[in-house]
Amino acid sequence: LEPAYSFMIRTRTPGGVVTPAQWLKLDAIATTYAERGLRITTRQAFQFHGVIKTELKATMQAINATLIDTLAACGDVNRNVAVSANPHQSSLHATVYAHAAEVSEHLLPNTRAYYEIWLDEEQVAGGPQIDEPVYGETYLPRKFKIGFAVPPYNDVDVFAQDLGFIAIVDTDSAGNASIAGYNVVVGGGMGATHGDAETYPRLGNVIGFVPVDALKAVATAVVTTQRDWGNRELRKRARLKYTIDDHGLEAFTAEVEKRAGIAFAPARAWAFEHNNDRFGWVEGEDGRWHLTLALPAGRIVDGDGVRHLSGLREIARVLGEADEDAEFRMTANQNLVIANVPAARRQAVDALVAVYALDIHRGASPLQRDAIACVALPTCGLAMAEAERYLPDLVARVDALLRRHGLDDAPINLRVSGCPNGCSRPYLGEIALVGKAPGRYNLMLGADHRGQRLNTLHRENIDEAAILAELDTLFARYAGERQADEGFGDFLVRSAVVAYRHPSNYEVSP
Ligand code: SF4
Repeated sequence: LEPAYSFMIRTRTPGGVVTPAQWLKLDAIATTYAERGLRITTRQAFQFHGVIKTELKATMQAINATLIDTLAACGDVNRNVAVSANPHQSSLHATVYAHAAEVSEHLLPNTRAYYEIWLDEEQVAGGPQIDEPVYGETYLPRKFKIGFAVPPYNDVDVFAQDLGFIAIVDTDSAGNASIAGYNVVVGGGMGATHGDAETYPRLGNVIGFVPVDALKAVATAVVTTQRDWGNRELRKRARLKYTIDDHGLEAFTAEVEKRAGIAFAPARAWAFEHNNDRFGWVEGEDGRWHLTLALPAGRIVDGDGVRHLSGLREIARVLGEADEDAEFRMTANQNLVIANVPAARRQAVDALVAVYALDIHRGASPLQRDAIACVALPTCGLAMAEAERYLPDLVARVDALLRRHGLDDAPINLRVSGCPNGCSRPYLGEIALVGKAPGRYNLMLGADHRGQRLNTLHRENIDEAAILAELDTLFARYAGERQADEGFGDFLVRSAVVAYRHPSNYEVSP
């Protein structure tokens, strides 16, 4: 008798977009096969947790029947492409989403293994060699992540991506805006290993501007250069950020230009306001509406007095029956946009949001609304400490401190990861806890609010009491000494509370 193995399954959903009909099917899959409902990841994908081994194939087939797959959602390939979360807010966002979907399709591996293993297309090993023009015979040395940001919002944390694209918008004399092209960002990444100076989080470098028609060529050139130059001896140094540091940014950029057959133009100016989501209703240019809901750590579940899974199921039913092109869009901050809602349908959505208490963003503090946590224990085998399950208690305690210092409305980014791999992009949190051991964390401080400056290690391997004591002292200083509109991370840097480990690469300036 073998042990009762259970698995996590992650979808490939570029830009995190699903229809109401797909939502209902994914909900049914979660209810039938998984534990703890649906979970939105920081790459705009769904995770199903606790799928038992004997039901894996049935679950994969059910996911495929929703016209969603899990192809390249894991492995040493390009992963789910992240896109700024609300494409339908304007035609610009829709265009960027289309570009991202094109890049995602272009970088899919050609292997039939997924279809053979899960969808009964038979041959499971051997067979004719499949041509893989992007991945070759070796695939990549490690996973690869791409994100598209649309200023002024950096909700995808574009500088944390292996390859990032910042949309540059031109407006003509008649006031019509269009995407002129993209600034290209290379070499971002969050993962690190405790106590190993050879590994570190890194912000991407902006290497230039390209027009839209060069997008796929540039993406292919970056990915294939990483395929050929990436470190295959030392897996911990196999990400693109280390390839760039090992070979030099100039040499890497020149190779990308050569492979893509282009020359980068100088990067165009951009400005990000913040890397969070915008909550509540927003009206799009076409008169349709978009409602962003805060979901604690992306978990959508029924139980313990919460009925979020049921609530979103009802909303999906209402929107699906109306058949009016409404969509669900996951955000890269683990929240959810109910997008493209006709004005006439708003009231029905609002009523369900109220009945099922999905309007967390209304009563939540800024800290609670914007906090991110990875899954960690009990699901992730790499976790050293709690993250998702600890977040509510931690937020409540940190909020209490903020209230004590009159900082209730301070929009501070808090991120928690159960290990230094950094799935919650903790190194871009103004306050971040990175798990060291059960109940113990590295306290990281000092990122900015735009995703353009890394935080740094402030106190190592401390427990909650020490974390709260440290924050209490710093909040007191912040309350008394901050300048007008100065963020907490910016204050810590200005007042030299934090010092940086990687001074050449802790901040990106436009
Ligand atoms: Fe990622 Fe580590 Fe969190 Fe697991 S514990 S989800 S690997 S950051």
